[in-house]
Amino acid sequence: MRVLILGGTTEARTLAGRLTGLGHEVVTSLAGRTGTTNAIAGTVRVGGFGGAEALAAYLTGTRIDYLVDATHPFAKQISANAVRAAQVSGISLLRCTRPPWRPAPGTDWQIFATLDAAAARLPAGACVLLTTGQGGLDPFLARTDCRFVVRLIQPPGTPLPAHGDLVLERPPYAVGDEAELMRSRGVTHLVTKNAGGVQTAAKLAAAQQLGVQVMMIERPELAPAPEVFSVDEAVKRLQAFAS
Ligand code: NAP
Repeated sequence: MRVLILGGTTEARTLAGRLTGLGHEVVTSLAGRTGTTNAIAGTVRVGGFGGAEALAAYLTGTRIDYLVDATHPFAKQISANAVRAAQVSGISLLRCTRPPWRPAPGTDWQIFATLDAAAARLPAGACVLLTTGQGGLDPFLARTDCRFVVRLIQPPGTPLPAHGDLVLERPPYAVGDEAELMRSRGVTHLVTKNAGGVQTAAKLAAAQQLGVQVMMIERPELAPAPEVFSVDEAVKRLQAFAS
């Protein structure tokens, strides 16, 4: 069976390895935003398709049997394109996503629908660990009455202003390191998207330990699609289809 995995996540890479090991032909597609660091089993293609219709044409043109959307839960556009492309091409789609994080009992998260709403609620004088990625910096950096520790995988396109300190790191992160980062920088607030998964969850435990206020950005709503919440479930579903 030929499978196209829309990737950019650890789960996508793991799934490519599992399916390749089972004898399937796997193509993993990456947007190409951060550069690849770890080898991915099978074939890798990089860059946008040019929209949903073009993705549909790619699926039929390369004789893909199954499309798996294993992109990040906040990658809203490509997930919408996957749903549309599956409709247009008639090729089956499975979304493989991570369960969202939930606050531990007794933990008080502030929940926001948008980055702008979270930025507006920061109290003056806050020192914020900002882990929401390149795309969402502007509403926060507009708050010149706060300080920001901005953690990114790749350097930003333009240098940060004086009230922003850049930390370049790649997950996975450990609780001890996260706590040390927050303690040493005097962090009072953590702003994060509800990405889910284990790779970046340590910041939440560290924030709880230190009494840092968590400001959680909820996931965007996606068009309905058949969905699984682990690589194991995805493999099972695809094996059932192939047999
Ligand atoms: P997005 O806004 O949903 O997608 C924007 C456009 O980028 C898409 O329309 C598509 O272009 C292209 N694209 C996105 N993912 C692609 C993929 N896997 N293969 C080929 N083209 C892709 O996506 P995003 O939020 O910028 O995220 C980009 C990638 O980074 C995703 O693959 C995602 O898994 C990964 N990622 C995102 C986040 C996040 O917070 N958003 C965090 C970690 C990793 P065309 O329309 O031209 O096909």
